[in-house]
Amino acid sequence: MTQQTETENFIEICPGCLACYNQGRLTFYWFQINKDTTLKQLERALDVEEIHRKAKTPFLCGGEEVSIQDNDFGGGEYMTAAELYGYVQLLQLVPNFDYVRAFKNIYLMQDEFDLNQEPSDMFKQFADDVLVFDTVYPYDNDLDEYLDELFGEFVGIDQNPQVPEILYSFIDWRAARDWLLNDYEKTEVNSKIYLWRKI
Ligand SMILES: [Zn+2]
Repeated sequence: MTQQTETENFIEICPGCLACYNQGRLTFYWFQINKDTTLKQLERALDVEEIHRKAKTPFLCGGEEVSIQDNDFGGGEYMTAAELYGYVQLLQLVPNFDYVRAFKNIYLMQDEFDLNQEPSDMFKQFADDVLVFDTVYPYDNDLDEYLDELFGEFVGIDQNPQVPEILYSFIDWRAARDWLLNDYEKTEVNSKIYLWRKI
């Protein structure tokens, strides 16, 4: 397992004015969402006047509707501030948004939220349990080592002086790892492997 950097602990949306868009004008700006972003800030970020201010476009279109013209996390075009705040709450549970991507690789859309648009129990369990391994040298064997230790614990041969050294050389470690992985979800995001017990 490797130390997590927190370099990408934000996501971005691009709130824009729909009226301007329909009149052929691009009125939008980029807004970063991180784990400290408040619901109030999100409401303000999606305010049509605020969008014109940030985009440095005079508010002459008379527009009322806002669309999210781009985002970097596969979100929708018409997310509300409350929906976006759901992502803030996810980010509060994990080091960065790649963890959310890993979760979404495996489960259905929206499994990360409950009906109140708050983190689901599934996501909370994932956040508690998930381990992250590097896929690149020199850490690319950490996952194998972790599984080997797990197997040793499971069959009770780890740190057991009764077990003769020779026994280890008879174990098919590759098969043992595959067998252990039956109980786990495993997915790769940005050169890291995310591993957690099946939920
Ligand atoms: Zn406008």
